[in-house]
Amino acid sequence: MNIQGYIYIIIIILIIIFVKEEDPINDTLILVNKENGLPSDYIPVDLELIDKKFAFDNKYLRHEARSNIEKLGSDALALGYKIIVVSAFRDYKYQYDLHNEYIKVKGAQYAELCSARPGYSEHQTGLAIDVMGSNNDYNLFEESIEFNWMRNNAHRYGFILRYPYDKTDITGYKYEPWHYRYVGLKTAEYIYKHNLTLEEYIKKQT
Ligand SMILES: [Zn+2]
Repeated sequence: MNIQGYIYIIIIILIIIFVKEEDPINDTLILVNKENGLPSDYIPVDLELIDKKFAFDNKYLRHEARSNIEKLGSDALALGYKIIVVSAFRDYKYQYDLHNEYIKVKGAQYAELCSARPGYSEHQTGLAIDVMGSNNDYNLFEESIEFNWMRNNAHRYGFILRYPYDKTDITGYKYEPWHYRYVGLKTAEYIYKHNLTLEEYIKKQT
């Protein structure tokens, strides 16, 4: 190849790196909440199947989150704790049906507090999980022997408790002891130590 060929390839590689870094939708710090949604056709490109040892069947997360939740599950298991992912990536259509079911059963007002509208669910990012412990009910995760361990160690694997009990006015969601969000190791450590929500952390950065 001549020198022009090499220059051409280098330019292409630089464009790919630039576009990847500038793509906020695929950032591990993407903020999805009641005000910030995702396009209905958004599906993360690097979804991977979580090992069945640590999740229900057919649960997918983005690469980094998948690898870290398996590490977490495996370390927990070594200590005698069972942490199982019961929900992970959910696409727009799934959330659409789920939210409408909530409205039908619980009414619109209650649905707004505990279920995201389609396009506004963090589960569509492929970075959020719901977990259960050895009492086998994610709704009762707080009562499981795993809860305290998860609460105090999840950040070491890049996960944060996303909807703490005293932060409903900031997150817009009632307390969800079972819902964790992958934000990366450094950010999770910071958020845990300073007792923040993702909303507060992002506001501090800007
Ligand atoms: Zn959840």
